Amino acid sequence: MRTPIKDRDHKTDIIDHVNQDHSDELLTIARAHSPDTDIHSARITDIFQEGIQVSITPRGNQDPYDAFIPFEIEGDLEEKILYSAYAAIVKQGGDLSGSRKHFFEVTGKTQLTTHFTRLTLRSRTPFPEYYPGYAYGFILKTLKGQPESPPPPGKTGWLQQASNRFFIWLMKRLSSNSRQKMLTNINKNVRLYTLRKAWQTTSTDGTEYYGHVDIFTHGDSPGSLWSAGLNAGDIILSRSESADKHPHLATGQALLIADETAFPALAAILEQWQNPLPPVVITLSALAEEQDYFSEARLPAGTRMHKAICPADRQGEDVLAIIETLQDFDTAWGAMEADAAKAVRHHLRNVRNIQGKNNHTKGYWRLRTEKKT
Ligand SMILES: Cc1cc2nc3c(=O)[nH]c(=O)nc-3n(C[C@H](O)[C@H](O)[C@H](O)COP(=O)(O)OP(=O)(O)OC[C@H]3O[C@@H](n4cnc5c(N)ncnc54)[C@H](O)[C@@H]3O)c2cc1C
Repeated sequence: MRTPIKDRDHKTDIIDHVNQDHSDELLTIARAHSPDTDIHSARITDIFQEGIQVSITPRGNQDPYDAFIPFEIEGDLEEKILYSAYAAIVKQGGDLSGSRKHFFEVTGKTQLTTHFTRLTLRSRTPFPEYYPGYAYGFILKTLKGQPESPPPPGKTGWLQQASNRFFIWLMKRLSSNSRQKMLTNINKNVRLYTLRKAWQTTSTDGTEYYGHVDIFTHGDSPGSLWSAGLNAGDIILSRSESADKHPHLATGQALLIADETAFPALAAILEQWQNPLPPVVITLSALAEEQDYFSEARLPAGTRMHKAICPADRQGEDVLAIIETLQDFDTAWGAMEADAAKAVRHHLRNVRNIQGKNNHTKGYWRLRTEKKT
C-alpha cells in the first residue's frame, strides 16, 4: 500500500530539488538499496508517504529500472529523505562532516557597493573550473595563522565513523521537533556564499589559486558581522561546498531572476553564457544603488534587463508583475527570498508550463521578522 502525497506542488518541489541539486546523494541512496552497485545515475520519479520511487540506470548500455526505497523514520518528507541520504552515506563508510573542509586565506577586502563586501581568497587547492553558482558553507570563524593540511578525502577514520553511526542512531530516535532543532543547531554558525570568480597565477614558486566571494551585508546579522571583522591574512574555512548546474540554459529562451544574494551567481552565469539567444533578466534589490553590482559584469549582447527595486516581502509580487509582461520563454533560473522563490517557481510550473529540469527557482534565504520582547 502506497499513500500518495496530497500537496502535489510540495511533492514536485522536493522531486525537482533532489534531482537538480542532490544527484550525488541520490546515487548513494540508490547504491545502498540496490543489488547493483555499478549505477550510472538515479532520478526520483515519485514520492509516497512510505518511501521514494527511483529510476536507476546501471552503467553500460542497460535500460533503467524502477526501485522503491522505503523511508526509515517518521517526520516530514524533507527529513525522511535527508535521513535516507545520511544513513546511506554512513553505511558506505563515507563522512558526514569533516572531509570537505576547505581552508582559505583572505588576501584582500573591498567595498563594491553600499552593502556588498568583496573578499579575495587564496586556496592551496584549485577552485572548480566551472564556478557559476558554486557555493561554500563558511563556518563563521576566523583562524589566525596557517591551518594544518586538511585530511585527504575518502574513507574516514574509525572515530569519525563511530560518531557518524551515533549521529544516525540519534537522528532515528529523536522526535521530528528535536531532530529539526538539532539540525538547526549544527548549521547555526554556517553561512552559504558563492564563488563569484576563480583564477590562478603561476610563477617560479608554483601555482596559486584565487577566488572572489561577494557578501551582501544587512544590519548586524552574524554573516554581516563576520565579513566586517575579516582582514587580509586571516584564515577562514568552509564545511561544505556545492555546485549549481545550468545545462538547461544552453538552448531556448531563458529567464534569469536574482536578488542581491544571487547577484554573484547571476553575474558569473552571464559571463559564461553559451546560448546564442540572449537571456531576459530580472534583478531585485531593496536599494537602487545595489544594482551597480552589475556595472563590472560582462553581459551577453542583447540581454534584456528588468530592474525591480522593492523590499524583500514584495519580491514575489514584483517578479510576477514583470513576468506578466514577458512573451514566452523555455527555461528559468532564479534565486531569491524563499517565499518569493516558491511563488515564482509554482507560477512558472503551473501557469507558464516550465517543468522539472527547466525550472531552477530557489530560495537563498528566508525573511524572518525578529520578535521584540
Ligand atoms: C546556494 C546559496 C548561495 C548564496 N550565495 C550568497 C552570496 O554569494 N552572497 C550573499 O550575500 N548571500 C548568499 N547567499 C545567501 C546567504 O547565505 C543568506 O542571506 C544568509 O542568511 C546570510 O546570513 P546572515 O548571517 O547575514 O543572516 P541570518 O543569520 O541568516 O539572518 C538574520 C536576519 O537577517 C535576515 N536576512 C538574511 N538574509 C537577508 C538578506 N539577503 N536580505 C535581508 N535580510 C536578510 C533574516 O531574515 C533574519 O531576520 C547564498 C545562499 C545560498 C543558499
